[in-house]
Amino acid sequence: MHWMLLLFMSLSLPALADLDYSLKPRQIAADTWLLEGSTDNFAKGNGGNIVNTAFIVTERGVVVIDTGPSKRYGEAMRKAIAATTDKPVIQVLLTHHHPDHVLGNQAFSDVPIGALAGTIELLGQQGDAMAENMYRLVGDWMRGTEVVLPTETLTSGVRTFGNHDLRLLSLGGHTGADLAILDQKTGVLFAGDLVFYQRALTTPNSPGLSVWLADIATLQGLPWTMIVPGHGPLATDTKPFEQMRDYLGWLDQLMRDGAANGSEMGEMIRSPIPERFAAISLSRYELIRSVSHLYPRYERTQMKRVDSNL
Ligand SMILES: [Zn+2]
Repeated sequence: MHWMLLLFMSLSLPALADLDYSLKPRQIAADTWLLEGSTDNFAKGNGGNIVNTAFIVTERGVVVIDTGPSKRYGEAMRKAIAATTDKPVIQVLLTHHHPDHVLGNQAFSDVPIGALAGTIELLGQQGDAMAENMYRLVGDWMRGTEVVLPTETLTSGVRTFGNHDLRLLSLGGHTGADLAILDQKTGVLFAGDLVFYQRALTTPNSPGLSVWLADIATLQGLPWTMIVPGHGPLATDTKPFEQMRDYLGWLDQLMRDGAANGSEMGEMIRSPIPERFAAISLSRYELIRSVSHLYPRYERTQMKRVDSNL
């Protein structure tokens, strides 16, 4: 029986040719398809497909929103688009510079790739290091992946693609340069990583949680009918916004209180996570990361306050 065991083991290790994202676009509104990733962390098992990407088939051609975590993903996305429509891809819009959203760019290098100025700058500065980290985390799935910088700078305002008017919003709570896209024809709001839903938010480049909270208010005030978060399930109610406000508010208060009490970082990362966040995946993992990203700022603010009282 040993040979069967060996055979089974060799079959269970995916060969390079078998690394298949199996992308299945799901229509979520008129002309609009979603490719929903998992809410897990980057892993060799998922090839980094932890992200939501989407495309809109306008009368003139296809607008792609984010290109995924690798060249291989971008190519699979392009195939999935071709299987859905005969229309050519005419535009890519990137929500922000994080690797899971932009490392599929190579598969779209024949069309304009648009991003906010800040996103282009951040990707230029951090892209190679982020890609290297992705090779470490997901391995062979990344084979051949290189950073491709956007070719077009986007600003706030309405852009028309065929029969779809897309309202672009230049925000910044997640990375300092975050594009949100409201399709004014369908009411679908592509929130990028300004909205995480049922998955803990990430903070490596956040300018501050108060900026992020203000962005959430801006997004909620738009005339949307459906929210596509950067990570997690889509929604047609306000729950993703409520969860974001609740979670950001908790995280902010936790670090304020910690700094006021002089708590050490080691204590902060062990803080209890409220029961109401039990359904949010990776909350402990991301709390540890957020404390390391943001807590020193809270400690400095606290010291300033003490100083100013002297
Ligand atoms: Zn992100």
